[in-house]
Amino acid sequence: MESTTPLIPATDDIDTGGFFDAARRGQLAIRLCNRCDAVLHMPRAYCHYCGSWDGRWQPVAGTGSVYSWTVVEHQVHPSYPVPYTVVLVELDDYPAARLIGRLPGRQDLAPGQPMRVWFETIDDVAVPQWRLA
Ligand SMILES: [Zn+2]
Repeated sequence: MESTTPLIPATDDIDTGGFFDAARRGQLAIRLCNRCDAVLHMPRAYCHYCGSWDGRWQPVAGTGSVYSWTVVEHQVHPSYPVPYTVVLVELDDYPAARLIGRLPGRQDLAPGQPMRVWFETIDDVAVPQWRLA
């Protein structure tokens, strides 16, 4: 029997825990290096630009624009019926950070369309998602 439990990210990981802590508070945050101010996304504790372990979680506006997308037509998990659209969003205030989200159906998107974050709650875990602004 196939599981219909949605996929839940690990929230106690050293690299990504702060991302989900912020999401639980309804805040989108990205990881920045305190030494060189590099954007460390995907989130990670270690800065591979300067070698520092000293970083911080920076709250961001939660707005961005469509950078890219794809429509998933082949179902890979029973909790995510097809079709759906996976979107890559470039943040307005930190364009070096691009976050993914899942939108229902086949979305008619265009590069640069404004997007806004929202938080999907899955088994008490808040997961940032995106919708057209
Ligand atoms: Zn650095």
